[in-house]
Amino acid sequence: MDKLIAENQGLRARLAEAEETLNAIRNGEVDALVVSGVNGEQIFTLQGADYPYRVLIEGMGEGALILTAGGGMIFYANQRLADMLRTPLEHLIGATFEHWIAPADRTAFQALLHLDQPQPQRRIELELVASDGTVVPCYLSLSLFQMEDVQCSVCLVATDLTEQKRSEALVVAAEKLARSILEQAAEAIVVCDHSTRIIRASGVAHVLCGENPLDQPFERVFPLQQADGAPFSLREIVNAGQRRWVEVRLERTGSIIYLLVSVGPLVGPQGDPLGSIVTLTDITQRKAAEDQIEQLAFYDPLTRLPNRRLLQDRLRQVLAAGTRSHRQGALLFIDLDNFKSLNDTLGHDIGDLLLQQVAQRLIDCVRAGDTVSRQGGDEFVVILKDLSEQPEEAAAQTQDVGAKIQAALNQPYRLAGHDCRSTPSIGVTLITDHQTTAEDLLKRADLAMYQAKAAGRNTLRFFDPDMQAVLEARTALEAQLRDGLRDGQFLLYYQPQVDREGGLTGAEALLRWRHPQRGLVAPNEFIPLAEETGLILPLGHWVLETACAQLAAWARQPETAGLTLAVNVSARQFRHPEFVGQVRAVLGLPSVDPHRLTLELTESLLLDDVTDTIAKMTALKALGVGFALDDFGTGYSSLTYLKRLPLDQLKIDQSFVRDVLADPNDAAIVRIIVALARSLNLAVIAEGVETEGQRTFLLDSGCRDFQGYLFGRPGPVAALWGIGSAPPASS
Ligand code: C2E
Ligand code: MG
Ligand code: MG
Repeated sequence: MDKLIAENQGLRARLAEAEETLNAIRNGEVDALVVSGVNGEQIFTLQGADYPYRVLIEGMGEGALILTAGGGMIFYANQRLADMLRTPLEHLIGATFEHWIAPADRTAFQALLHLDQPQPQRRIELELVASDGTVVPCYLSLSLFQMEDVQCSVCLVATDLTEQKRSEALVVAAEKLARSILEQAAEAIVVCDHSTRIIRASGVAHVLCGENPLDQPFERVFPLQQADGAPFSLREIVNAGQRRWVEVRLERTGSIIYLLVSVGPLVGPQGDPLGSIVTLTDITQRKAAEDQIEQLAFYDPLTRLPNRRLLQDRLRQVLAAGTRSHRQGALLFIDLDNFKSLNDTLGHDIGDLLLQQVAQRLIDCVRAGDTVSRQGGDEFVVILKDLSEQPEEAAAQTQDVGAKIQAALNQPYRLAGHDCRSTPSIGVTLITDHQTTAEDLLKRADLAMYQAKAAGRNTLRFFDPDMQAVLEARTALEAQLRDGLRDGQFLLYYQPQVDREGGLTGAEALLRWRHPQRGLVAPNEFIPLAEETGLILPLGHWVLETACAQLAAWARQPETAGLTLAVNVSARQFRHPEFVGQVRAVLGLPSVDPHRLTLELTESLLLDDVTDTIAKMTALKALGVGFALDDFGTGYSSLTYLKRLPLDQLKIDQSFVRDVLADPNDAAIVRIIVALARSLNLAVIAEGVETEGQRTFLLDSGCRDFQGYLFGRPGPVAALWGIGSAPPASS
């Protein structure tokens, strides 16, 4: 293989054989390659030992070329250079290289070529202009190599800088962007290195920390506190290596700023951790709004105590905790006695002050973990937690707290200059059975509270298991009441009212329930429950309608046209905003004379909300309706009110009538009531008159109208005609 393959006279002629030659070289078929210049001078020899270099040059990532001496023509170029210049390789060979050098860089290139010896390597950064006009930033490094006897040849390596330039530009742009983000960000953004030292910070971050945070440890510049008061540790989060969001607070000269801190990793191009990026968003306003919503939803605005909703929640927690710990708890239901009269006499503002002071006294009576809540109105509920595991001991502990509460609430109150007194009725139930529901517990304590009221107020009563039976019976009764209403099981009985001669003047309508199992049921057995459940509204409406239908029937007969009818109205019914409208509607029946209708109200009802009472009574009076004050003497009416109310009649309660002959006190009371009625210009009627003796005494005392078994028991309407002088024409 000692043959000389090529010795070209002309460079272009050599090209025709270039491919073949190259293959021959690659295949190791040649020992040497001798290249001659245009003038026959041998300018390049590639000996066998140079093959590897040749292969290397062909495969290089950089463009490589060899120029003829003097830097004129391209003698050799690799494919990469052809690609860079967007020119076929064969067009390159023999061409003038300077042709592809940007005009502005040509002088520099020439200077590079002609630099004085002896620098063996020279470099220059310039722009090549490819054949299609693309500008290729490029780095040329030049080597001179000396041929044995001929001129110098120039070897150039061109490194394409396009990509590098592009990424350099990207880095600059990214840096610019990052800077403007940091400057303009509405949030505090802080970049920390791996040791949580701050290396970059946004403008807002500077303002937030009030100093220059750069180069400082994050925790020193931002002493943040978590919700539980523990200090916020960036390092911990960074060490855990997770993205995290934490709500924290930052105290700044008297004010507290709430922040949402978001921590994310700062990573290098290969995903290597470099530090962290921390964003601090001010959520103070959102927090304030949240707090306000919570206050409104879960706290009573007047006393700032937990409200009914929050109480239920706490109660459920106590029940759940008790199941785990077996510790007992207790529920105290506290109702202020006579709060309504205080409210009415001194005004709601004073009433509010009392409620606030009661709230404070209750808080002072219990331990920190216990709950004091306001259920509404004058009702408070206290939950005691962590009592003894022994029921008896727990009961004793509760009794102690209850007594303490009672004593505290009994202390006089100073309310805007008024000295006032108030007492509580307290119902208690122990939370022993953690299977019960919060609602059941509240019901029990409520029931016990009613027992305390019944026992004379200002006292404490425990819920006892017998009450449970009562509770269940009431639930059943409620369902039956609803059925009764639906199925028309109610009817009205009528009890005669007579004048001094015993002549029938009218009747009182008294409600009865024809119960499918129990027979005829008296109103005292179901009216209270109907009141509590609201069923009194449809029931009372039915009574009014039926009574008015009766009045209309009477009006059609001259013999009965003058009779009056008294109808009992319960507090809940009267309080209903639609009450006046309802009465007006039932009076709309043709031929009903409103002057024949008397509504019987009780004292407690009247005093509940005096302003509302007077307004409603006045509106109804304008229609012609009359008012009687039922069970008079049993309540605690103040005479001042009595004067202000548009009443027509006082009804002496039967409890005074019963013993009027035996008890001098009752006799005196009856005389006073009659005198009072006279002085107020009111009619007076005695109820529950059973004997002739009672009638005589009442008559002597000045009473002119009577009602009672002596004249007739309540019964169906037809039974009215059994008495007095008015015979039934028809009923
Ligand atoms: P009230 O309005 O004071 O009615 C008088 C009660 O005394 C009636 O009881 C009546 O039967 C009874 N009574 C009448 N005369 C005598 C007597 O000489 N001796 C004795 N011992 N009792 C006599 P009743 O019918 O059981 O009604 C009880 C209460 O139920 C009523 O007391 C009234 O407050 C209420 N009530 C009755 N009907 C209605 C109604 O339609 N609506 C409302 N809201 N309450 C009603
Ligand atoms: Mg009555
Ligand atoms: Mg009565």
